[in-house]
Amino acid sequence: MNTKQRTIILEKLQSLNTHPTADELFQRVRKKLPNISLGTVYRNLNQLSEQGIITKFGKAGEQKRFDARQDNHYHFTCSECGKIYDLIPGKMPSLTTIMNSITQHEVHGFDLEFYGKCANCKTKENNDD
Ligand SMILES: [Zn+2]
Ligand SMILES: [Zn+2]
Repeated sequence: MNTKQRTIILEKLQSLNTHPTADELFQRVRKKLPNISLGTVYRNLNQLSEQGIITKFGKAGEQKRFDARQDNHYHFTCSECGKIYDLIPGKMPSLTTIMNSITQHEVHGFDLEFYGKCANCKTKENNDD
């Protein structure tokens, strides 16, 4: 695996808070590495997520999204504009920690996504009235 490519992909992801798909990230990384392929970006992202450096998430049947943010947080998708926001639970323990304390199983993670109407869309709607 090419370390330079990997570093640039990771840095690009870290600079975004939009939770891009591999495709979106590829479009951006390509400006710096014109010869890189989508497959390479995808492989690097998968490897980084297997190593726990980034998080991969997304609904079944949809393109996976990637997030370099590794603190305890959840995702909120706006049903109106499709934007994905970070929800920060503050001092609340992560669901993984809670589940591990109440089950015999060893819980490693979860797929959970909140949805609704984002603050921007809510404001817009109120102004339309
Ligand atoms: Zn919205
Ligand atoms: Zn996030």
